[in-house]
Amino acid sequence: MPVSVKMRASLGGCHISGAERIVEPRAVPSVVASLAERAMSHERGMPDFVNIKIETPSDVIRLDALPVSTVKVSSADEGWRVVDESLREAGFTRSQEIRSLFAETYSMRGAMLLDADTLERLEPDKARGVRATYMDSSDASLRSLGKNHYVEAVVLATKVLSAPGIVGEICVSDDPGYVTGYVSSRKFGYRRITVLKELGSPLGGRIFLYRGPRSEVEKTIDYLQRQAVIVDGVKPLCAKASASRFDGIAKELDETASAGLERVERTLLGRTGSRGATAPSRECCILCSNNYLDLAGDDRVVSAAAEAARAYGAGSGGSRLVTGTQPPHVALEEHLARFKGAEAAIVYPTGYMANVGIITALARRGDIIFSDELNHASIIDGCRMSGAEVVVYPHLDMKALEDRLSRCSGFRRRLVVSDGVFSMDGDVLDLPRFLDVCGRYDAFSMVDEAHSVGVMGSRGHGLSEHFGCGLPDIAMGTLSKALGSQGGYACASAQMVKYLKQKSRPYIFTTAPTAASMAAADAALSVLESEPQRVEALRENAAFFVSELARRGVRAKTESAIVPVIVGDERRAVAMSAELEKRGFVISAIRYPTVPRSMARLRVALMSSHARQDLADAACAIGELMASI
Ligand code: PMP
Repeated sequence: MPVSVKMRASLGGCHISGAERIVEPRAVPSVVASLAERAMSHERGMPDFVNIKIETPSDVIRLDALPVSTVKVSSADEGWRVVDESLREAGFTRSQEIRSLFAETYSMRGAMLLDADTLERLEPDKARGVRATYMDSSDASLRSLGKNHYVEAVVLATKVLSAPGIVGEICVSDDPGYVTGYVSSRKFGYRRITVLKELGSPLGGRIFLYRGPRSEVEKTIDYLQRQAVIVDGVKPLCAKASASRFDGIAKELDETASAGLERVERTLLGRTGSRGATAPSRECCILCSNNYLDLAGDDRVVSAAAEAARAYGAGSGGSRLVTGTQPPHVALEEHLARFKGAEAAIVYPTGYMANVGIITALARRGDIIFSDELNHASIIDGCRMSGAEVVVYPHLDMKALEDRLSRCSGFRRRLVVSDGVFSMDGDVLDLPRFLDVCGRYDAFSMVDEAHSVGVMGSRGHGLSEHFGCGLPDIAMGTLSKALGSQGGYACASAQMVKYLKQKSRPYIFTTAPTAASMAAADAALSVLESEPQRVEALRENAAFFVSELARRGVRAKTESAIVPVIVGDERRAVAMSAELEKRGFVISAIRYPTVPRSMARLRVALMSSHARQDLADAACAIGELMASI
């Protein structure tokens, strides 16, 4: 005999969630576990009381699911017009009045039971209403562990319409994130209406319509509240109904394109460098690569990658803490630490993962993070994922940072994080002041050196060398820019690195980066150490380019290898980038959300190997287009 398992969860006496299943006795333990999981992880909060009730009903009947149709609408008003027409189609004349009664269902846990013709309320307990329970779908594949509104609703509607005297039902979910509702009747079955309320509204309710003798009402309520029912043949939403989810995708794509925000990839042929060819074969000068020192295509670096692949295989075969650590990983971490003058280093598969991994390891709920408003997206994502309180301070404003730090108290940990060189503006963090402020408020200092290693400091060691000061608590960086490879890292104390290796999920739960990319970065570091003149050449190229722009009337400045040429309008930036490409210069248009709206720009990134003539020609082309587009 099937068994009923019911779960109700509440907090301070208020209902949070509920669910029920009717299953074979052997499935009870796993169903109890999944319902408990559901109770404890509801978005409305953690309950302080969970009741799981297991009963064996005296009899269980089986019903065929109502036929389902879907009406797609785009607003709640349109949805209610469909309800109105449907009710009239099923022979109910007072649909407007029925709708207005929903104002009273919002506070009820159960449904309102209405005489379909007189609209008299028939439920004995008006505050609670009638609760239809003891029902489930027989199709195990439809029983997801989480909440499946659609299946639960069809099961309930099927049971309700099978009750003596019930001739119709209207339902609006009370889940603020679920706007779809339905109207059902014996005439047309279950009519799903895609929008019946505003997104975010917690208001919902149900109305059951009854036609029959008053003497039978009690029997109907008893059936709704006590009769166990299993519903067969609930059909998954058919392709036609679910096609609406693709409509939304198409709409968003159209909006993105018409706002000038569509991003398109171009394919660059051959080994990456300061000159190249875009597919199919147009010669070009590349002015937006992060390969600042042209090491990605350097023979020594490429050979190191090839040799490591031959020696250690194409993939690492496991995560770092299981089977993925190979000699090139260890060697690179030691080299990075030496290069930065830190005790130790940890390498992640990408710079993005490094930022997310470091921040989420260091900060969680109860902690506070201070983040520059123009920090890179990977820092922003790390802050969001951490669950910590995040305070965004004005760009590079150390006074504002200090002010915010001085006003916060009661947090377990404080972390201040900033780009060293800002990726879209090229401006530079005042590291000594940053460290001073963090130190005085006992906050962890973290600096993203993605665009400063290989660029800043006379030998390219980054911001500490540039300013002649100490390191932040965490000097994060990437192997994918000046070091011409792929991966991210943090240099820090041995203790901090040990901590990160224990706590960083993007370090622990992903396959180790390849030996080839580790060996390539290691070789690139060696080239950088033996050829510091590359850093000087890069700096000179940046200064030359800015002066060439100035000669053409274009105002731009740089303190690093990044020169933003602010264009403003997104579509104008795209048009300029396209025209530049026709003339043989690859320079990306950077737009929202990478930078604020109406702050679109051509982001020029210099390389040590750019030829002066190419730079002069590019500046000339930009000058012309700034005047003509
Ligand atoms: N931080 C900054 C400042 C960056 O510009 C980038 C790359 N755009 C990253 C982190 C992410 O590094 P990666 O490309 O190695 O994931």
